[in-house]
Amino acid sequence: MSALTPGEHGRPAWSVLRAALDERGFRPSRRLGQNFLLDENMLRAIVRDAEVGPGDTVLEVGPGCGTLSLHLLRAGVNLVAVEIDPRLAEIAAELLAAETRFRLVVADALATKHAIEPRVLAALPDKAPWHLVANLPYSVAGPLLATVAQLENPPASMTVLVQREVAQRIAARPGTDAWGPLSIRLQIDYDATLVRSVPAALFWPKPDVESSVVRLVPHPTRMEPRARAELSRLVDGLFQRRRQSLARVLATIAGSRETGVRWLEAAGLDPKARAEDLDLVTLRRLATLAPDAGKGLESG
Ligand code: SAM
Repeated sequence: MSALTPGEHGRPAWSVLRAALDERGFRPSRRLGQNFLLDENMLRAIVRDAEVGPGDTVLEVGPGCGTLSLHLLRAGVNLVAVEIDPRLAEIAAELLAAETRFRLVVADALATKHAIEPRVLAALPDKAPWHLVANLPYSVAGPLLATVAQLENPPASMTVLVQREVAQRIAARPGTDAWGPLSIRLQIDYDATLVRSVPAALFWPKPDVESSVVRLVPHPTRMEPRARAELSRLVDGLFQRRRQSLARVLATIAGSRETGVRWLEAAGLDPKARAEDLDLVTLRRLATLAPDAGKGLESG
């Protein structure tokens, strides 16, 4: 039996995991967001927040040493985990060697900024529901969430621990500084709720920022892909110039002042308003009026 083998209910003490990390010459990387959550009660709380149980399929991005994975497996889920760092993957594989419902992919979860690693997709169900539960590395949180939300079979729920400022952007309301492309891309299809704060002191190494758990649950109806693409193009254009008046931004992205004014009038919008004042309903209306919004961007 390896020193990493967990008992029936416990897990190896942190000192044992630290020794396994030291043996591999591991130094936590800031770029890879390697801040491990040490607090058992918080790990348990995240699994409870996720509302997953026996028979559910869960994707965990960045299992690290496998501590959250262990709690997820104890809740009875079928777990697919993807870890970029082979040294951590080795420790997680050893810790979870006895688990039959665990599959580990050693790779970058994102093959490109907008595509999930194909081996991860192949391990997830094509049609049946699956859930994302993860303590996400800072650098990939936004792109990863936006990308999985647009999959043909997107997650049936997402419960993620992220930097507090990212959580605030995900759950932001229109008219606030945090409202922007990430909030919109996720809230098109999901209700987002901030579930709990996680103090920096509960991690090793201690990050400079606070973190929060955010949970996303899909709306009953999903936006149709073409409408989503139109909205997405419009949002990119609008928020690249979020402090400018709509009259100016729309003139730029329409490619002419006249077309911009026509869109504004048809949508019944105040020319002095700014992108961050627009709620989802208004943005969707504007996107249907301005399906070619991307063209002005490409030329200017
Ligand atoms: N799950 C562990 C925990 O809760 O303590 C570790 C979470 S730590 C915040 C983030 C993890 O994501 C690290 O293990 C890091 O190596 C991994 N990671 C970073 N970038 C990644 C990527 N692009 N794809 C997969 N894993 C990644």
